[in-house]
Amino acid sequence: MVYGVFSDVHSNMEALTAVLDFFEDFEVDGYICCGDMVGYGPEPEETVQRIRKLKNLHCIIGNHDLAVVGLMDVEWFNPYAKAAALWSRDTISMETKHWLQSLTAKIERPDFTVVHGTPRKPPEEYLLSAAQFKDNMPLVHVWPLFVGHSHMPLCFRVNKDEPLGIETMILEDHQQVEIQRMPYGIVPTAFNPGSAGQPRDQDKRASCALFDSDKGTFRIIRLNYDITATQNKIRNAGLPEFLALRLAFGQ
Ligand code: ZN
Repeated sequence: MVYGVFSDVHSNMEALTAVLDFFEDFEVDGYICCGDMVGYGPEPEETVQRIRKLKNLHCIIGNHDLAVVGLMDVEWFNPYAKAAALWSRDTISMETKHWLQSLTAKIERPDFTVVHGTPRKPPEEYLLSAAQFKDNMPLVHVWPLFVGHSHMPLCFRVNKDEPLGIETMILEDHQQVEIQRMPYGIVPTAFNPGSAGQPRDQDKRASCALFDSDKGTFRIIRLNYDITATQNKIRNAGLPEFLALRLAFGQ
């Protein structure tokens, strides 16, 4: 099976369309969405409606999704995130709200696990360090683990030659990681496909990935999209200007 893996769309329909068009051309068999479909961006309703119709979709809820549907307090959000979450809350339909509320914070399948942040604190904790990966390892029963949240294309995996026994990779466009096998299973490995709708690794292109569960490969793909169109929609919606500006810098 080849899965299209994506995360942190954040109501950016132009970026989502670029990603899903690519997956469609590639004829993927299914989709893995690591959460945060809404928040920050101008089209929460359209974004959720598009994602929920995908075939063979494995989708979990992120912290911004929780905030938008009223299941997480926005008080600790930064002012931009808070403004967008409250605006999105008033914008989405009841149908979309109920669908988001029906999602779980963790999916565990025979061939992979999905959370937004970490297995320890699925919607909240950012998986950014080797030490965190190591701490979370006992909580994962099926590898690989797919995460989002940090908006960075990353890979963590067990490698005894590295500090703490964990190898950390920041993944670039078209970089492919082979999932390594041991006699009793696969080497513990976590992947973040980066953010489709608000990349923060100084690369403004939408980020996504292909996971081939038969071959055991994960490959990052970066895609250009119409950033100006999304910026105009952000301004027309009356959302904070910073949310439009950051898209042009990949921050
Ligand atoms: Zn996010």
